[in-house]
Amino acid sequence: MSHEKSHAAFERAKRLMPGGVNSPARAFGAVGGEPIFFDRAEGAYLFDIDGNRYIDYVLSWGPMVLGHGHPKVVEAIGQAIPRGTSFGAPTEAENILAQLVIDAVPSVDKVRLVSSGTEATMSAIRLARGFTGRDVIVKFAGNYHGHVDSLLVAAGSSAATLSVPNSPGVTSGTSGDTLVLKYNDAEGLEAAFAEHGRHIAGVIVEPVAGNMGCVKASIDFRETLREVTREHGALLIFDEVMTGFRVAYGGAQELYGITPDLTTLGKILGGGLPMGAYGGRAEIMDCVLPAGEVFQAGTLSGNPLAAAAGIATLEVLRDTNPYEELERLSTRLAVGLEEAATAAGVPFSIGWFGAMMTFFFSTESVTDWDTASRCNTDRYARYFWGLIERGVYMPCSQYEALFLSTAHTDDNIDATIAAAHEVMADLE
Ligand SMILES: *Cc1c(COP(=O)(O)O)cnc(C)c1O
Repeated sequence: MSHEKSHAAFERAKRLMPGGVNSPARAFGAVGGEPIFFDRAEGAYLFDIDGNRYIDYVLSWGPMVLGHGHPKVVEAIGQAIPRGTSFGAPTEAENILAQLVIDAVPSVDKVRLVSSGTEATMSAIRLARGFTGRDVIVKFAGNYHGHVDSLLVAAGSSAATLSVPNSPGVTSGTSGDTLVLKYNDAEGLEAAFAEHGRHIAGVIVEPVAGNMGCVKASIDFRETLREVTREHGALLIFDEVMTGFRVAYGGAQELYGITPDLTTLGKILGGGLPMGAYGGRAEIMDCVLPAGEVFQAGTLSGNPLAAAAGIATLEVLRDTNPYEELERLSTRLAVGLEEAATAAGVPFSIGWFGAMMTFFFSTESVTDWDTASRCNTDRYARYFWGLIERGVYMPCSQYEALFLSTAHTDDNIDATIAAAHEVMADLE
């Protein structure tokens, strides 16, 4: 398989953009080698500029749950373009999308549309602080909430630590109001609230973690999240940018039967165009300007093209309810990968929740960042490149989840499992 044109394009890109990319995960840094440049996509397939075809398990990091180029989505965008691509003024499409979100996501009575997941989480924590009049935000090691300054803080040890920034440019003042705790550690959470409770504005959490690989939240952990926040008057923020419309139409909160105070959305919400949202109880959302005083704005917020793509995507999901079928396919994939690894004697642990999954090269089960960080990432890199050579595009990091779409078929799964058997057999 040749990647000559990708190589040449990357050489050019490196002179034009930092690291040759516009988002770091794309640079393939975690698996070594150079990124592949893509030309087009169709259904479950990606085509690179050298003409190679891949089964796509990245799906633009989640948004393309209907696969690439779903006819309803393409048609909706096509119809929106000639009517105007941005007005910076209200449109009926925003009403339609807002209503879809409110109907879908149990915790959302009112919603504000923004243009990315980062914008959604940044705004949600500002709102939590504005609403409670408190400063401290709790987050969990290994959870990612976009590149919001105060959420870009180092993974703490198992003890609660007031954090230090892990990116240059984030001031200690900003990150000092963030408390980093261990994921799935209900006791640690209770202890942190016992000590800092009256200063905590909110807890932001991935209800199923996807950004340290796919890691489920234990029942004990998620119930404790709801209890301690309620008890101490802090807001519980479910960051469902990845899980929203993916693990279920109403997100993880629908499956858990837990109602957070605020929810952040993105990815699938825009159907492949830039769109995010945050929403929650009306009493909280009405604190946002101009109903209330918490400032948040955006020139392209609720953009008509993104709204059209989002509406079409959500309507298809609502009307076809593909979640059981997605789960059936992901079960087949998980079982197949397990068998491939077992046959090859490769130790593993699978993190898996509906149509998101991570195959961890780990000798222990992965429940938090400590256990995730002990994975054999060299082995993952070899697995990744072995699959690339066989036309399967998996996430270019051990610490990202793979996704399935409604365009994936049993044949795709079979081909992927067959490729995994070959690659695993070669790993050691
Ligand atoms: C992707 C992601 C974000 C950030 O969204 P962007 O659109 O990349 O800014 C935030 N939270 C979670 C859980 C995500 O997966």
